[in-house]
Amino acid sequence: MNPAEWLLRSARKAPDAPALLHGVEVVASYGAFAERAGRIAKALREEWGVWPGDRVALFMANSPTYLELLYGIWFAGAVAVPINYKLHPSEAAHIVDDAQARVVFVDDARADIASLLGGEGPSVVTPEILAGELPRHTAMDVPHPMREEDLAWLFYTSGTTGRPKGVMLTIANLHAMVFAYFVDVDAVHREDAALYAAPMSHGAGLYNFMHVLRGARHVVPVSGGFDPSEIANLAPRIGNVSMFAAPTMVRRLCDHAARSGYDGEGIRTIVYGGGPMYVADIERAVAQFGPRFVQIYGQGESPMTITALSRETIAERSHPRWRERLGSVGLAHSCVEVRVADEAGHPVFAGETGEILVRGASVMAGYWRNPTATAATLRDGWLWTGDLGALDEDGYLTLKDRSKDVIISGGTNIYPREVEEALLTCAGVREVSVVGRAEPEWGEEVVAFVVAMEEEGLEPDQLDAHCRSQIARFKRPRHYIFLEELPKNTYGKVLKGELRRMADEVANRDKRS
Ligand code: AMP
Repeated sequence: MNPAEWLLRSARKAPDAPALLHGVEVVASYGAFAERAGRIAKALREEWGVWPGDRVALFMANSPTYLELLYGIWFAGAVAVPINYKLHPSEAAHIVDDAQARVVFVDDARADIASLLGGEGPSVVTPEILAGELPRHTAMDVPHPMREEDLAWLFYTSGTTGRPKGVMLTIANLHAMVFAYFVDVDAVHREDAALYAAPMSHGAGLYNFMHVLRGARHVVPVSGGFDPSEIANLAPRIGNVSMFAAPTMVRRLCDHAARSGYDGEGIRTIVYGGGPMYVADIERAVAQFGPRFVQIYGQGESPMTITALSRETIAERSHPRWRERLGSVGLAHSCVEVRVADEAGHPVFAGETGEILVRGASVMAGYWRNPTATAATLRDGWLWTGDLGALDEDGYLTLKDRSKDVIISGGTNIYPREVEEALLTCAGVREVSVVGRAEPEWGEEVVAFVVAMEEEGLEPDQLDAHCRSQIARFKRPRHYIFLEELPKNTYGKVLKGELRRMADEVANRDKRS
């Protein structure tokens, strides 16, 4: 079923209900939202020659229009290709080419992508062109029928290594994701509001479905992104806010709260995921904001839907293993099987580490025009996530690291995450990331990159003493490199490849001097 049907149903049920907000200002009711989506669909068909199954890209910052365009694309039966607006235009052009998009919607700041796409390329539609076209079209009557196996969203991976790949998400994948959200993550009511403080091209954008289905509000902060003081100001005025936040965003919100006294008023749920949330950070967040957090673990290839750690478990402090559970990513989503496997794909025992495999309705159909990558990732019906982890006897999954990030020193595996968790409990440490560096005697040695809290001076000796009190000696970092901030990609994920390069550079410099 076409997702635009959900929009039409919500519009029929309550046409005047507020749908799209820019800050506190309501810019469209559900009736107006559906009508605009229908017009966009008509313009796509009649003006830009878009047919069902064609790809239509969006290269623009978060805005209420983003949602109208997404639903216009689906209304027409086409495939949405949301591109991270923080990418360089040449990176975005690569995605547009790879997806063979027929149309690219851009905002003014990104209109110059046109010069990179060539004359035979897709139509580039600016806000001015769109505003000129829409009044000339009536809304399409009914959404083009879409079947379960039809492609709805080409989701380009964040590409922390190599070129991004287009993950093919079908209608069936999105349905599974949406229904599992209601079962395993959170309820959504008409009075609620999705707040888009992270790029809508990625995880944050996926919250649109649950909120459209329920006829709830969609709020785009005026800044278009994540500014903790703006959120603290906006959330109490909006009320019942749900938002996706990467762990770094949660940390920044906590820092802001510590300074301003903000207690989370107006926020119902913060769903965090997309990268490791350290125990010390989430403990602090719960102490400040209370039981407002749910964790999800997913990847583009099984969007939002591998495991979830519930609100109750995150706030629980009496279970004998509450701390271990808080450091886990929770239990398998209802629509998938999760297995921790050896290299042959056989399940390993509880407590043992292996690669995380996923099978079920939310798993992608494959990578767009990339059968080699598809065959390497989807094997015997299982998605090989590239993440390492261990299941405990109760089914809680703890992530270790991406397989390529594991450090092998003296033949023993060291999981950077464990060292990072230990360092983060040392007073004065704000952020940390641990990588391996080639070393002749041991194969690899552990190097820690540390961001200190502004006011405290940190010494390597102090960090070393702390590590000795927390983890086995062989795991402790041999070198500390202090940075003002960690290099991150446009989705806020730490670029470990970049850190490995920096670690090598420092070693070479030390050798020379
Ligand atoms: P992406 O496909 O860009 O969303 O990236 C997915 C990857 O982010 C996963 O394969 C994990 O390595 C990481 N990730 C996602 N959720 C979590 C989480 N809750 N905790 C730790 N890492 C996560």
